Amino acid sequence: MADKPRSPTESGCPDAFQYMHPVMRKNYGAWKYHEHPRPGVLRHVGYSGDEIWTVRVGTQRILDVFTLRKLCDIGDEFADGYIHFTIRSNVEYMVADEAKVEPLIKAIEDAGFIVGGTKNSVTMISHTQGWLHCDIPGTDASGVVKSMMDELIDEFRENNMPNRVHITTSCCQINCGGQGDIAINVQHTKPPKINHDLVSNVCERPSVVARCPVAAIRPAMVNGKASLEVDEKKCICCGACYPPCPPMQINDAEHTKLAIWVGGNHSNARGKPTFQKLVAAGIPNNPPRWPEANAIVKSILKAYKEDAKDWERINDWIERIGWPRFFEVTNLPFTKYHVDTWRGARNSLNASTHIRF
Ligand code: SF4
Ligand code: SF4
Repeated sequence: MADKPRSPTESGCPDAFQYMHPVMRKNYGAWKYHEHPRPGVLRHVGYSGDEIWTVRVGTQRILDVFTLRKLCDIGDEFADGYIHFTIRSNVEYMVADEAKVEPLIKAIEDAGFIVGGTKNSVTMISHTQGWLHCDIPGTDASGVVKSMMDELIDEFRENNMPNRVHITTSCCQINCGGQGDIAINVQHTKPPKINHDLVSNVCERPSVVARCPVAAIRPAMVNGKASLEVDEKKCICCGACYPPCPPMQINDAEHTKLAIWVGGNHSNARGKPTFQKLVAAGIPNNPPRWPEANAIVKSILKAYKEDAKDWERINDWIERIGWPRFFEVTNLPFTKYHVDTWRGARNSLNASTHIRF
């Protein structure tokens, strides 16, 4: 037996400071102020008197190696050799010399990328992994983002919105993503369909039963084989049973839809967090351009742009005008399905930060 336990093989995130622009590193935590000379560009000034310009560029998030190399080459040739990805998959180049800003922007635009996404713009839509990395998507989140950003490209480039707009898309109902000023999320509308021939070979039945948030799944014998059954009256069509048991297929070209939620915001120095609320459901999940979902998002943005006061985020604007007026100005129908009458959550869902086992 070895004398010492083996060292962990997982190394975690590398130290970010080694990759930081030297001016950023030197002035870390010691910035005096920053300003916004033009859309897509920030100028930070440190107490030391140092200045640095950041140029923000939109990307499609899932990048092939050729595009990545192209972006890095631009950084080497026209910036100071440093590149930074934001959490919304924008790329940022930093330069310590103002004279480099315009040639850098020209090189970026000549290569077919767009500069923007700062201040009161619609910045890059963030999205979840989709079919590339995950086994449970009900749609291709990156496809929804691509089609939507193609139509919102001018809102990324310019600063025409009352305040910043964060849009997110999420490809299942239960896991990552899906919180923003506007969120486009998958919505399953029917219970899973069970392939009983496969369940006994593929699924660990106790873990599938335990996974259901409303206890709608029970073990069952079907045609002499161990399988499962779903109490469809209880099922809330969340899709949580599909990952541990793929034979419980819930994705469906007709019944897997999109839903749009608005008004989600993280807390900050001035306000508490706000939860998003459902405003449109049952929207066709319609690749490759998702025209129905796009039209709704554009109509919400148009109403927000015309009606909100300067610096109101979407949640502030709705709080001021009220939900009835929101549905009027966006032309969205308000139906009985918008009213949340399900009371089971009080007993079964975690509603506080306490961890329960
Ligand atoms: S949102 Fe759901 S399906 Fe999409 S990547 Fe996250 S866990 Fe997977
Ligand atoms: S879809 Fe959700 S609620 Fe329905 S059976 Fe599966 S885990 Fe339970």
